[in-house]
Amino acid sequence: MSTILEQNAPPESADDGPINLIGMSREELVATFAAMNEPRFRADQLFQWIYGRGVTDFDEMTNISKSLRTKLADRFVVARPNISRDLASEDGTHKWLLRLDDGTEVECVHIPEDDRGTLCVSSQVGCTLNCRFCHTGTQRLVRNIGPAEIVGQVMLARDHLGEWPTAERPTIYERELSNIVMMGMGEPLYNFDNVAAALKIVMDDAGIAISRRRITLSTAGVVPLIRRCGEELGVNLAISLHAVRDDLRDEIVPINRKYPIAELLATCRDYPGLKNSRRITFEYVMLKDVNDSDADARELVRIIAGIPAKVNLIPFNPWPGAPYDRSTPERIEAFAEIVRSAGYPSPVRTPRGEDIMAACGQLKSESERPRRAMAG
Ligand code: SAH
Repeated sequence: MSTILEQNAPPESADDGPINLIGMSREELVATFAAMNEPRFRADQLFQWIYGRGVTDFDEMTNISKSLRTKLADRFVVARPNISRDLASEDGTHKWLLRLDDGTEVECVHIPEDDRGTLCVSSQVGCTLNCRFCHTGTQRLVRNIGPAEIVGQVMLARDHLGEWPTAERPTIYERELSNIVMMGMGEPLYNFDNVAAALKIVMDDAGIAISRRRITLSTAGVVPLIRRCGEELGVNLAISLHAVRDDLRDEIVPINRKYPIAELLATCRDYPGLKNSRRITFEYVMLKDVNDSDADARELVRIIAGIPAKVNLIPFNPWPGAPYDRSTPERIEAFAEIVRSAGYPSPVRTPRGEDIMAACGQLKSESERPRRAMAG
């Protein structure tokens, strides 16, 4: 069984050392500044420096007085997660393994494409869902990560890609990091508060400023939180469907036993914004002889009828000991054709970063028993 630690992220600082400002919302910064008798506009300036410019050294914050900068440097830091490994794939995909303060690790992946660059962000160390085809589900330790660790993944990628605006280059039109998908390790809706806090920071125009239209949150189907995701964040929704009958989905996506297909799809029909040309993405992993027949494709089209949708077919990505095979390209094409002729775009996702185990469902960090987290 999994070792599940139902706890939030550890405090940003284990001792009485400096506190990391990254992860703080605008309101938290304002409150922190108010406690130091500093006005709101100073907090806004700081927000812009750290999230809008990516500055980590207080001395570079030139519109803030020297004395306040010194005061800030005494108490705070602007820190990124530590990178413990950095892997580049032959196809340009890049994976960073991040070592968190308690010694656990998460992965994040940058996938460059012709018209965009997508960062695949993790929401938990490990995952409690145990989907049968997913490597992350085999990791024993699970814990939620905090806003600093989620926003930190985006900031670190932007550092690496050299895409912070500067005085000389205030606007960057074509970014290598243009889109975010919450499709890394973990179930984002099981860590909703921290994911929401992080995404609000990411979307803030004065900060990282990635629009909600360029952010997609993927869930295996935590039905009670889907609506809130739409209302509070307004990001695109992706559903890891993978099966069209409850008996099979119960087996391969076990959260289905709690929230079966009919309930999940009813919630999707109500997803805020669907009438305004927004579409839900259904993800469907192609498992040879398991869920890939013509009959499955026809049933898929039937059950999602009326939902503005796109169906992403993901050829299964293998991992050591995985109990499935990838469907053949011909099978995937035949399946896609049925979905397309019913009027749904159905792109087949090209596996990316397979040589560095960065493709969908291949993420798994070594985190097993961090000393501090297990002590309690
Ligand atoms: N827990 C969320 C976020 C993870 S997203 C969710 O389930 O949506 C990761 C996506 O990759 C999901 O659609 C997942 O089902 C898919 N996936 C998992 N293992 C895979 C594998 N081995 N091959 C291809 N896709 C996989």
